[in-house]
Amino acid sequence: MTSTFPDTPPTRPADHAEWIVAPATPAGTGAIAVVRLDGPGCWEAASRVWRSTRSVPPQARRLTRGQVLDVNGSVLDDALLAWFPAPHSYTGNDLVEFQCHGSPAVVAGLIEALCAAGARLARPGEFTERAFFNGQLDLAQAEAVANLIASRTREASRVALSQLEGALSREVNTVREGLINLAAEIEARLDFPEEEIETADRLRLLGAFETARKNLERLLATARRGRLFRDGARVVLAGRPNTGKSSLLNALVGMERALVTPHPGTTRDTIEATVDILGIPIVLIDTAGVRHAGVEEIESLGIERTLREVRGADLVLLVLDASSPLTAEDRALVGLLGEAPLLVVTNKCDLAPEGHNRRGWAQELGLSGTVESVSVCALDPDTLRPLEAAVARLLMGQGGPEGLTEAESATVTNLRHAERLRGAAEALGCARAAFEADQSGEFVMVDLNEALQALSEILGLSVDEAVLSRIFSRFCIGK
Ligand code: GDP
Repeated sequence: MTSTFPDTPPTRPADHAEWIVAPATPAGTGAIAVVRLDGPGCWEAASRVWRSTRSVPPQARRLTRGQVLDVNGSVLDDALLAWFPAPHSYTGNDLVEFQCHGSPAVVAGLIEALCAAGARLARPGEFTERAFFNGQLDLAQAEAVANLIASRTREASRVALSQLEGALSREVNTVREGLINLAAEIEARLDFPEEEIETADRLRLLGAFETARKNLERLLATARRGRLFRDGARVVLAGRPNTGKSSLLNALVGMERALVTPHPGTTRDTIEATVDILGIPIVLIDTAGVRHAGVEEIESLGIERTLREVRGADLVLLVLDASSPLTAEDRALVGLLGEAPLLVVTNKCDLAPEGHNRRGWAQELGLSGTVESVSVCALDPDTLRPLEAAVARLLMGQGGPEGLTEAESATVTNLRHAERLRGAAEALGCARAAFEADQSGEFVMVDLNEALQALSEILGLSVDEAVLSRIFSRFCIGK
C-alpha cells in the first residue's frame, strides 16, 4: 500500500557544500586533540597543511603518520590523520580527522592553516547536522548524539546509545507505517462514500487504531523515567537540626561515585552534591537553613529557603532522629511540606530505643499510610542501600531502574519527542472517534494526517527549519 502522506524533507542549508573545520576535543591541553575537516573535496584543503611521512597518499579509513604544516608552510606538529571519503564517514561527506598533540597552540595553528586553505569554522552541531541532511542519521538519532555526550551516568549513556542505534526511531516508524496503511485504506474509500464498510473491514481498521494507540501509550510511559536518566532529579533532605541530614548527604556522596563533591547550594544556606544513585543523576540538597530556625521562627528565611527547595524537588527526604522522641518542630515541618512527594528517613537507628516503631511515627505525624519510610544509620553504609533503592523506586515509579528492561530500550528522553508523541496520540484519538461515529473519511484523514505529521517531526522527515536550527545549536562545536 502506498503512502498518501506528503513528507516534506527540510531543505539543506545553503552552505552545506562548504568546507568546515573545528576541534572535536575540548579546549585546553591534553595528550591529543582531534581536529575535523568536512565538505565535498575537502582533501584539497587537508593536503595543503599535511605532509605524509611516507610519500604514499593516505589510504581511506587508515591512520597515516605525517607532519602538520602551519599557515606559512612550517612544520607545526608530528601527527596522525584519518581520511574518510564520502559516503562512508560520520557526516556522509568527505571528512578528514587530524590527531595532533593536545596543545591549544597546535590546534589553533592547524585551524588557521585550514581556514587559509579555504575552510571556515563550523557552527555548533554542524557535523551532525550534515550527517542528518545526508541521511546518515534521522533527527531522533542526531538528538541522541547530544544526549550521549551530555550523559552523566552509565544508565543515561546506555539509553542515549540505544536511541542513537535507532531503537526509538524504529518504534516511531512502526507506528507511523501502521498509520500510513490505515490512511491509505480510508483514503481509498473516499471516492465511494455511499458504500458501507463491511463489518470485518471495520473491525480490522479499529484494530489498527488500537495497535497504534497502545504503541504510542507505551512509548509515552517511558518518558518520565527517560527524562530522569537524562536530566536527573532534585532530592531535598529536610528535617530539624541534628537529625543527621549533612551526615546522610556525606555518606551518600562517599558511597557513590560523587559526580560533584558537596559545594554550597544556590542559596547561602543549602549544600548540594550530585551523585549517581542506581543510574539516576541526583542532585542532593541539604537544607542546612533549617538549622537556624526554631518553631517560633517557622516563617524565618531559613524555612522559606527550605520550602523553596521543597517546591522544586522531585522527592523530599524527611529526616527524623530515631534516638529522641518526635518534637513539635518535626510536626511543624511536616505541616509545611504539603503535597511534596515524600520519603520518611528515620536516621540514627543504631541509637533507637528498643521497640522503636517508625511506622507509628509516620502515623503520629499525620502522614498518609502510602508514604514509605526507611530506617537508616548515616554512619553505616550498609543501611543506606534500602534508602537508595527506595529513592530510585519512588522517582522512577513501579519497578525502579531494574524495571527498565532491554525490551523497553526505546526510551523517550527528550521533551520534544514526548510532546510530539502526545500530539500524535491526541490526533489519533480524534481520528478514531470520527471513524467510530461514521463521520466522513475526510474528517478522519485530517486528524490522521496530523498524527502522522507529529511522528514525522520526531524523525525529522517533516520539520520546521527553526526547530532544526534550535536542535543543532545546542550541540557542542566539533560535533
Ligand atoms: P543535621 O543538622 O541534620 O545536618 O545533622 P548532622 O548530620 O550534623 O548530625 C548531627 C549529629 O548526629 C552529628 O554529631 C552526627 O555525627 C550524628 N549522627 C548523624 N547520623 C547519625 C547516626 O545515624 N547515628 C549516630 N549515632 N549518630 C549520627
